[in-house]
Amino acid sequence: MQRRATRRSGRLDPGFYQSINYLLNDEQDLAVDSLIEQLGIDESTFDTYLALGALVRRRGEVDKAINIHQNLLARPDLSPTKRAQAELELANDYLGAGLLGRAEQLLVEMLARIGSARDEISRKAKQQAQVLLVGLYERESDWANALKVVKPLLKLAPAYPVLAGHFCCELALEQLAQAPPALAGAKQALAEGRKLAPDSARVALVSGRLELAGLSEGDAKNKSACKAALKYFNRALALDADLALDLLPYVQRACELLGDNAPLAKFASSTLDSLADGAESNTGMPVQLLLAQAELLRSSDGDAAAHAMLLSALGQVTSVKQLSALLAHLDVETLSTALPAGLHETLVQHLGDLAESIRDFRCSNCGFSSSTRHWRCPSCQQWGEGRAVV
Ligand SMILES: [Zn+2]
Repeated sequence: MQRRATRRSGRLDPGFYQSINYLLNDEQDLAVDSLIEQLGIDESTFDTYLALGALVRRRGEVDKAINIHQNLLARPDLSPTKRAQAELELANDYLGAGLLGRAEQLLVEMLARIGSARDEISRKAKQQAQVLLVGLYERESDWANALKVVKPLLKLAPAYPVLAGHFCCELALEQLAQAPPALAGAKQALAEGRKLAPDSARVALVSGRLELAGLSEGDAKNKSACKAALKYFNRALALDADLALDLLPYVQRACELLGDNAPLAKFASSTLDSLADGAESNTGMPVQLLLAQAELLRSSDGDAAAHAMLLSALGQVTSVKQLSALLAHLDVETLSTALPAGLHETLVQHLGDLAESIRDFRCSNCGFSSSTRHWRCPSCQQWGEGRAVV
């Protein structure tokens, strides 16, 4: 890129008028190139350059944007404010180009330089750098650093405590996934999660899971751990009824370890009651909960009672998924008195195929569907937008 080193003071370059001409003729590419070439960098053109850089970045010409912002930063006489502005733009260029390492280095150095300066401009620049860094560490799944950088931002917007909660959960799950599981590290991450994000249903869910980790049948410690776990699960359910199906297997496991099905019965009936009350009318009836209830009834009152319960549930069905799951669990002999021969099998087969094609989770932000719950949507990258489809 060629540039005039000096600029005649008080008079605009003829090239500037050429640039305006291009703009007026809707020839934006030429206008941008011409502006970059004609404008010398000084105090009065700094903002124009910044705006140009951001413009070419938005147009996808990241290399050009990087070039502009690097040229700005090469000036020795930049004020601290202007330096920070140009650095933030350059960091955005790097992020746009996928040069995460360079963006990280730039932002970390910038934060170190600003340090604890208290003036408004430094404070703002620092905050913007931190916001960019959080996004960068999220992209790299570097949860420890993401958590570290998000902490000073907690009061900035309600979204940041929510993010902090997810970062703590991710950290805890990483620890749990190690062989053998690093329980102490996971515990520490979740304790922090409960402090930073007290209203996070996911933090409660993972906290409960952690209580159950490493327990085996017949252990004397089980009782207190299972009780603690169930408390977390109930808290998670109270915070987000949509998690009922995510919680179910863990509630079942806790009851197994306890040797007592009463908490499961309570969990299933209170969930179904709250759904029936319409408190969460968009969630629908999770059939797995009904089936769990029917299993409990089978062991206490026998097959006929369980079957009668499932039959009566057929009346509340509102989706193919629910109908398919229920029909598959109703036995053929009883149904055949109500349905023509062979119809039950045909229905189960076809409904099963159909239900299979309906994904179990859907992002309420962008509509991305999947068969497993993604806490962070792979499509729109939003946290906690997945909703169970029942
Ligand atoms: Zn999404």
